[in-house]
Amino acid sequence: MKSTGLICLATLFICLIGHTLFAQRVLIIGLDGFGAEGYKIAKHPNIDALVADGTLSLTTRPVMPSVTMPNWTSHLSGAGPEEHGVVNNNWTIDKHELQPIEADQEGFYPSIFKLLKDQVPNVKTAFYYNWANLIKSFNKKYLDEVSFEDNFGYANNYQKAYDFMLKNQKEPTMTFLYTVHIDHAGHDHKWLSPQYITAIEEADVEIGKLMNKLKVENLYNDTHFILIADHGGIPSGHGGVSMSEMQVPWAATGSQINKLGLVDYPNSNKNTSLVVANIFGLKDIPTSWSGVLPELILKKKNNKMKKYFR
Ligand SMILES: [Zn+2]
Repeated sequence: MKSTGLICLATLFICLIGHTLFAQRVLIIGLDGFGAEGYKIAKHPNIDALVADGTLSLTTRPVMPSVTMPNWTSHLSGAGPEEHGVVNNNWTIDKHELQPIEADQEGFYPSIFKLLKDQVPNVKTAFYYNWANLIKSFNKKYLDEVSFEDNFGYANNYQKAYDFMLKNQKEPTMTFLYTVHIDHAGHDHKWLSPQYITAIEEADVEIGKLMNKLKVENLYNDTHFILIADHGGIPSGHGGVSMSEMQVPWAATGSQINKLGLVDYPNSNKNTSLVVANIFGLKDIPTSWSGVLPELILKKKNNKMKKYFR
């Protein structure tokens, strides 16, 4: 009896420790309209500190056209507009010309949120946004928490994302935290205008506050952070194929990401979800996902995903 009790206790201990240690936590910070040129001009010490232990690309390509909905759908769905069918900002589930090449029961192309819900026990997912159309190409049934912030504000959502990660710290979590205010500054005042640069620097302050709060709660070191953008811009806007529109920052940091600093391997907004899938160890990847897993930035290979390695 005595030894059985000990074995039970040991098993319970291992389960508890394992559960705590291996609960994966990914935070994707999405900054709309944040081009590589703006990244080089603006001062963003908190982003610099965040990516210092990871990998940064300033030559990542958006999918075409270089507009918002196609690119965020690509980031979070591992594929291009050719596959997911979101080719403009007017896409709705009821009205779109190009059908997705594969779809769930409700007609949505498979997102990283669906894959996680299908393959990771107890995973919690969250989606924070302040541009109303953004959520339309994602099936909300795979999201545990959704928060839209009015008037293009984002500070409340940053707080909510923190609360979500804190509350669910013992479970695997995938948090998508997005703001559109940099893009709006570009449209209102032109890309690279003082107001546009200020908008980047304001986002950096909010990111810094969030990082500090995560550090206080000991949640920082075992979180994977991915910082992404959809497109850059030219003074009159975006949607074209100039290099100003077609190069965006892409950064990742965390225990499974190599510390490479600035890299220039060919990267695409289509690759983001494959990196997330690898972090969570997902085995079942939709065959229509056309993104590629960038092997050189990863410490741990998920061998079942071998065909996706560069
Ligand atoms: Zn955009």
